[in-house]
Order: sequence, then structure tokens, then C-alpha cells
Amino acid sequence: MKKNKLGVLGASGRMGQEILRCLEGQTKFEAFLGWSEREKETGYKHSVTRLDPELVDKVDVWIDFSSPDALTAAIPKISRSKKPIISGTTGLSDVQMKKLKSLATNCAVMWSSNMSLGIAVLMKTLEHLQMISDFDFQIEEFHHKHKKDAPSGTALSLQKKLEKVTQTTLPAPLSLRGGGVIGIHKVWAFGEEETLCFEHMALQRRVFARGALWAAERLLKKPKGFYEFGDLLK
Ligand code: NAD
Repeated sequence: MKKNKLGVLGASGRMGQEILRCLEGQTKFEAFLGWSEREKETGYKHSVTRLDPELVDKVDVWIDFSSPDALTAAIPKISRSKKPIISGTTGLSDVQMKKLKSLATNCAVMWSSNMSLGIAVLMKTLEHLQMISDFDFQIEEFHHKHKKDAPSGTALSLQKKLEKVTQTTLPAPLSLRGGGVIGIHKVWAFGEEETLCFEHMALQRRVFARGALWAAERLLKKPKGFYEFGDLLK
């Protein structure tokens, strides 16, 4: 079976390298193109710091775990290939998100602040909190000390969903940074006589890399348009 050529934006980073490890021993994707800011060697077949058209045109599907500025810079270069793109980069401004979404007029685009199944299920579960919308809510998130954005993209997605469900404005998520924590998210609901807490803990970075590859497989079969992780679960 012919392997799909994978292009990874942010190839030398924590997530780019985790994807490379997930590709070992599988038959669906080839670690074809790795783009990063300055690293000469990323472990992908072609390690590049510039996205040249000859290589861009050969990529079958893109996965992006880079930075908001890097993604924005890459968009005009990769849009010519009209190939599906999965982006997990967080901290995008409204303008940057609009640019990513504009790609969807020509190809399939999926963006998710969190590529884990557990968070996808939690998102859906939050709909039940409509029954206790008079409670006080608070989202908490914990991440490693190298994380650039705060609150995390996942916390903001949870917040957006919860505000929609409860029709209220919630206090900003609380962010803690330290050590090597991959990612913990808690959704608190405080009543006068009881409290409820949902907690998701990512135990390994691999969960996000595998989620992105799972999404890539599905997005290759989807028509152009903008998708979220939950859309691919349906
Ligand atoms: P990292 O800092 O380890 O890696 C960033 C990568 O992007 C590096 O390869 C770097 O060279 C590249 N890069 C940065 N700026 C660049 C530029 N201007 N030009 C070219 N390349 C550039 O980060 P990470 O921990 O791998 O996370 C990357 C992103 O993915 C972050 O936004 C993070 O929040 C997000 N993330 C999302 C999920 C999810 O499930 N959606 C999971 C983990 C991380």
C-alpha cells in the first residue's frame, strides 16, 4: 500500500518529534517533510527551514504543531498544494484563526486545541451542566513550564463551550505552570451543598500525536471545509 507523505510544521518540537515516534512501524504515513525554525536535522526524510514548492507539492497531508506566527507564515506556502491540514497549534489570535479557516475554501482543515479522545468526550459531557447552570463554574489547567500560551487552548475551548451551555460569563481559567506536566484540565461546578469536578489528565504527549494521525487519516477522505476534532468522531 502506498504511504501518504506527511508534512509536519514544527517538526523539531516536542509534538513534531512525538509524531515521528508514532510513525515507527505503521504503514499509512511516510515521515516526508519536517519544517522547523532552525534545526538542520529533524528525523524526517527532508528537514527544511524553508517551504520550497517542489517539496510542498509532494506532501499529501499536513500536521501542524508549531507556533501561531509559524503557522501564519506557512499558510500562503502550503495553501498552493490544497492538501488537508490538521492543526493543533494553540494561542492563535482571531486574525490568525481567520487565516487558517480561509484555507478551508480550498481544502479540508481541522483545528483542535486538544487531540485527545478524553477531552472530546468531556466537551460533549459539558452539555449536561446545563441542568445546573445556576452553579458557580471554574476551569483550572496545569502544564509544563515551557508552555508558551496561558490559559491553554484547551481551557479556552472548554470555557467557550461551558459559557454556551450555561448561558453565563465565567471567570477566566486559572493556569499553573511547572515541571513536565503534559496537561491537566479540571472543570469545577460549585453548588451551595455539593461540588462536581471533571478532570482530564494527559499521561503522555503521545495521546495528542496519535490523535493528530488518526485525524489525518480521516481528513484525507473528507471534502474541503473546516472541521473540529469532534466532527471526525461522528
Ligand atoms: P515546541 O516549542 O516544542 O515546538 C515548536 C516547533 O515549532 C519547533 O519545531 C520550532 O522550530 C517550530 N517553530 C516555532 N516558530 C517557528 C517559526 N517562526 N518558523 C518555523 N518553525 C517554527 O512546542 P510543542 O510543545 O511541540 O507545541 C507546539 C504547539 O502545539 C503549541 O502551540 C502547543 O500549545 C500545541 N499543542 C497542541 C496540542 C493539541 O492536542 N492540540 C497538544 C500539545 C501541544
